[in-house]
Amino acid sequence: MTSSGENEQLRSARYALADCEQRYRGLFEAIDDGFCIIEFIDGPQGPLSDYVHVEANSGYERHTGIRHVVGKRIREFAPDEADGWVALYGEVLRTGRPLRFERYFDAAGRYIEVSAARFEGVSPRQVSVLFRDITQRKQAEAALRESEAIARENIERVQLALAAGAIIGTWLWDLQQDRFSVDEGFARAFGLDPALGRVGLSLEQVVATVHPDDREALSNAINEAIKRGGPYAHQYRVRRANGQYYWIEANGRVHLATDGTPLSFPGVVLDVEERRAVEEERNRAAAELRALTETLEQRVAERSAELLRAEEQLRQSQKMEAVGQLTGGLAHDFNNLLAGIAGALELVATRLSQGRIVDAERYIVAAQGATKRAAALTHRLLAFSRRQTLDPRPTNVNALVNGMTELIQRTVGPGIHVETVGVAGLWPALVDVSQLENALLNLCLNARDAMPNGGRITIETANRWFDHDAARTHQVPEGQYLSLCVTDTGVGMAPEVMARAFDPFFTTKPLGQGTGLGLSMIYGFAQQSGGQVRIYSELERGTTVCIYLPRHYGDATDDAVERIKLPTPQAEVGETVLVVDDEPTVRMLITDVLEELGYTVIEAADSGAGLRVLQSDVRIDLLVSDVGLPGGMNGRQMAEAARQQRPGLKVIFITGYAENSVIGNGHLEPGMHMLTKPFAVGTLAARVRELMNA
Ligand code: ADP
Ligand code: MG
Repeated sequence: MTSSGENEQLRSARYALADCEQRYRGLFEAIDDGFCIIEFIDGPQGPLSDYVHVEANSGYERHTGIRHVVGKRIREFAPDEADGWVALYGEVLRTGRPLRFERYFDAAGRYIEVSAARFEGVSPRQVSVLFRDITQRKQAEAALRESEAIARENIERVQLALAAGAIIGTWLWDLQQDRFSVDEGFARAFGLDPALGRVGLSLEQVVATVHPDDREALSNAINEAIKRGGPYAHQYRVRRANGQYYWIEANGRVHLATDGTPLSFPGVVLDVEERRAVEEERNRAAAELRALTETLEQRVAERSAELLRAEEQLRQSQKMEAVGQLTGGLAHDFNNLLAGIAGALELVATRLSQGRIVDAERYIVAAQGATKRAAALTHRLLAFSRRQTLDPRPTNVNALVNGMTELIQRTVGPGIHVETVGVAGLWPALVDVSQLENALLNLCLNARDAMPNGGRITIETANRWFDHDAARTHQVPEGQYLSLCVTDTGVGMAPEVMARAFDPFFTTKPLGQGTGLGLSMIYGFAQQSGGQVRIYSELERGTTVCIYLPRHYGDATDDAVERIKLPTPQAEVGETVLVVDDEPTVRMLITDVLEELGYTVIEAADSGAGLRVLQSDVRIDLLVSDVGLPGGMNGRQMAEAARQQRPGLKVIFITGYAENSVIGNGHLEPGMHMLTKPFAVGTLAARVRELMNA
């Protein structure tokens, strides 16, 4: 079915994906920071008015103190603050401009730096948010502010001290009379008699208080000043009254007569001991402050570089994860579809060579069906990555099985006999048709792989009633279900294989043959459809895999069959459809189809033009509108505005995947329907007719 080159690619894509997933998980949990991804959704407050937490690591809880946030909407657990948060992150989503701010989280008692960035991943509605604990930085900043305050205070104190108390005393040396007198402060400080000091001291008396080591320098400085005249300042040690030596500064001025004769020499003695200590203290404080600031700045720089690196790594691994998922899924699904198309083409060739042209047509239609399903691949891949919007429709599963049987027989080969047992009166199920088809095909491929020497595949449907106990064993609510079971006569599964069979990427198949995604996709699909899937297997005997789906109360539309038989019901005279779509080719296509069916079609390219038509009194039986529209309103808003004037107006919305939630994820008002792109022309025609007749 596949060439070895493709097998190789598939294998390495699978490895890369598993590896990448693991690394991503590791990183996600290992980073100390809190991290979460939020996805915007629509709420009663309007489009994008709420968001749900799709991922969060353990750091998230540590940092914010908020527990079990995944799966919760912001309006659910913080209704009072929700408006603020939605506005904040909504802005990030809208503009793509990253956001950073600080906030105190009461629950965790921490200061957190929150950085949010639009998450350029699979969904265009996601924002990633990083929570970094900055409590320590905040505390360090507070400590810094405190020590700055102390330093300022010190300086003030010193200045005050200098002004008030640092002048020990004053002297006046009459050089002409050679009389050295001092004031009371001076006398007291040096243990001299104040009375004597006032009258005059002998120079010996004063010099005696000077430290012996400083005497020579002092007398030199004095002599030099007297010779030169003018300002004088000299520091030396003196013994004060308590017998201890202290540093002082003598600060004075020598007055000379015009002929150079020394006249007088007055001055003050300053206590520089204290000033020195204060200056030292001030320098020390300033140095400390500088060092502290530097380390802080450095730490902040390091942390933000780290943060950027971590963010980048995270983004990269998330991108890789998404790419990996897409690649793995794509290869798998395309293999299935290619098998179907190849089988159909082979049949066409056979029939043509037999000249049975009418039969050949059937297989062409079948091949077209597979091609259309390939186009719907993106839709299903998104579904696999749990970000899906299913398009569940009431479905007749028997008809679906019948439509697939021929394709399945071709795919599994002539060595295997395919048998279908469709119970009469099977209840309809509400499911996404292409997903169910895909699931069935996957089960049959597994059956084929289990029977290398041939055997039998039985596809069976049945109605089931799960009473209390049965519902418990199947882990579904009590009630009515229908089952779709595929049984083979193959090798069966050992208990340890059965236990892991639903794990993504679990495969026992040789390199290149298995992706391990088949059963995990079926499991996800069954769960999302409100059902369940179960394996019953016996080694060497065979395996049965059953999908259980809840009964749908209503009629099935036989969509699977409808897609193959292109219905061309004709319009009644005058029936008018308004088509609003900004994409001219899409608009033209829809218009062509509708005109061919006999409808009168009015076209509009934006919501403004559309609304003007809707508010006029032109006849309009049906509105077919794109959801994303220019002109100030989206399709839904336009339809709602129109319904104020035309209450029962029938509407079909055409949506791309991303827009599904704009119209409420399938929860539509009566008379409003939706069709997901890409759609078959026949489906559109059938939907229009169905609605017109309703
Ligand atoms: P894959 O088919 O790519 O291996 P699946 O998820 O479809 O991945 O299946 C996982 C594993 O479950 C298979 O590798 C196989 O071991 C086991 N398995 C699935 N279906 C059957 C079956 N009908 N009979 C025996 N084993 C099966
Ligand atoms: Mg498989």
